[in-house]
Amino acid sequence: MTANANSPISNAMTSRQHAVLRALSQARGFTSAQSLHVEIRSSGERIGLATVYRALHTFVASEIAHTMHDADGTQLFSIAPANGLGYHLICRECRRHVPVSVGFVEDWAVHVASAHGYTDMELVIEVSGQCHTCAASTPRQQRSSSC
Ligand SMILES: [Zn+2]
Repeated sequence: MTANANSPISNAMTSRQHAVLRALSQARGFTSAQSLHVEIRSSGERIGLATVYRALHTFVASEIAHTMHDADGTQLFSIAPANGLGYHLICRECRRHVPVSVGFVEDWAVHVASAHGYTDMELVIEVSGQCHTCAASTPRQQRSSSC
């Protein structure tokens, strides 16, 4: 993978990539390639799932989209926000996501990487858990009284 943030993807985007980008933009939060595939096909566009995947991975490499994995290991995608809040706190159950700022972590990562002579650093942060709504609706299996 040699793609980087400077690749002129928007200039060279195919109509199918545009369709994927449009569907991804309209999705609320993180969504799977399968869901986007169904969404695009229902709008009349003829597109294969592999094409959807290829477009999504191109978007991720170009930092147009973000990716994460849900509790089942399914890869999910979301448009990267343009406001600098590039990371999300994600609920593994309902996929509710909250944009979070991690500027201090980026500062630390850049410092550590450069201290070791590394360049072209890539930082991947995935913070997932259970949101308060899901936590409240999940019955506790066993409440321990010993602690
Ligand atoms: Zn939730």
